[in-house]
Amino acid sequence: MRIGVLALQGAFREHLATLAAVGVEGVEVRLPSDLREIDGLILPGGESTTMRRLIERWGLAEPILGLARSGAPIFGTCAGMIILSRSIVGDEEPVLPLLDVVVERNAFGRQLDSFETDLDVPVLGERPVHAIFIRAPIVENVGPGVDVLARLDDGRVVAVRQGNVIATAFHPELAGETRFHRLVATMAAEHADPGEGAGRRPHPLRRTRVDA
Ligand code: GLN
Repeated sequence: MRIGVLALQGAFREHLATLAAVGVEGVEVRLPSDLREIDGLILPGGESTTMRRLIERWGLAEPILGLARSGAPIFGTCAGMIILSRSIVGDEEPVLPLLDVVVERNAFGRQLDSFETDLDVPVLGERPVHAIFIRAPIVENVGPGVDVLARLDDGRVVAVRQGNVIATAFHPELAGETRFHRLVATMAAEHADPGEGAGRRPHPLRRTRVDA
């Protein structure tokens, strides 16, 4: 099982390092052909306008949408969340509209350009997530099929999941937070090998012996 990280621009190395830290093989994705080797994809933070242009230039949109439709997990952080949103406040066209949310870019304004806070993310367990926000978007509106995974104290939504697509307005990969990547790896393993949990496939020799 391998997880791709879109490596056109932005903070992709940190995602590869986080995957390595949890023992998952990461693959740098730059070309459509790279997508054939993976069971899940991470869209990193960076600059969504630049990332949009590169996705279009390299013909990546259709094959990424196909990967998502096949059920492989897709995880976007910050600019990656913007790329995955159905609608972007202002006049921007969506890029890979897989999440039924409306996002606003650079939603925290100049004074709060970057900040850190601890967030409750119940699906990841009791220990709070240390969240780093860098010129982050905010989720303005959430469609009926979307689960809210985390909110700021003021109620604004900063992490969501819709089926196999997860997005955070913040950067877990910059904070040593590995639980999102573990969750994505579990989903990717299930996608790669439906019906078998990660690592629970019986050894082929043992299976032969049992069958004999
Ligand atoms: N401000 C960036 C954008 O709008 C996102 C910032 C980030 O990914 N850290 O694309």
